[in-house]
Amino acid sequence: MREMEPSGDSSIDILEVFEELKRPPLNLLPKERKLRESGIDNFKSGVLFRRTIFFDPKYRHLPVNDLRYALLHEEGHKKKKKYTTLVLEIDVFVILLSSFLISYSPINQKIQLAITYGLLPVYIFLLLSSLRIFGGAIQKDEYFADKYSAMILKQSFGVRRPSLIVESTLSKITSSRNKDALSYRLGVLFFGGLHPSDEERVGAIERTVDEQSDTE
Ligand SMILES: [Zn+2]
Repeated sequence: MREMEPSGDSSIDILEVFEELKRPPLNLLPKERKLRESGIDNFKSGVLFRRTIFFDPKYRHLPVNDLRYALLHEEGHKKKKKYTTLVLEIDVFVILLSSFLISYSPINQKIQLAITYGLLPVYIFLLLSSLRIFGGAIQKDEYFADKYSAMILKQSFGVRRPSLIVESTLSKITSSRNKDALSYRLGVLFFGGLHPSDEERVGAIERTVDEQSDTE
């Protein structure tokens, strides 16, 4: 029998929550942070658009604590996306190096083109499989972002058991996904296991945040 943690008012718009997190004295998001709609993924911090947090408009009216959790999770990624960035950097390095070697090798242009296009599927395979091979390391980024967000929910917003918020947010996002969609299936095929399961994430917050310093 667990008590329910109120997720909060769900008539609030994500923009209000975003502005609240930016405002002093909270200053939980830096001034230059931007928020933009995107239908591609539920919530996302850009690799290229470093200042922006993207969100799917269908989640703009989640309960207030769910929105805080989701936005702060993305902010956690901006603080530290160590492993994911490293993996992508290695991939880019390998691709640039081999393109360089092909372009400057003393072979004629036709053969160069043939090699370049022949390597394309290899590159795509390299990118996708490296994400899977380093999946464990990339999962650490997720745990870090979850913990970062959950600690703030606890310390700045008085949420006693942040794992309940994590659970409620993830379940809403997961249940509204269209599991028959081709994009979803391809995602699972290539990126499956990239994110830890919802249960693992909730469990990690229970152990590392909920149960800590309950005595204060
Ligand atoms: Zn994440």
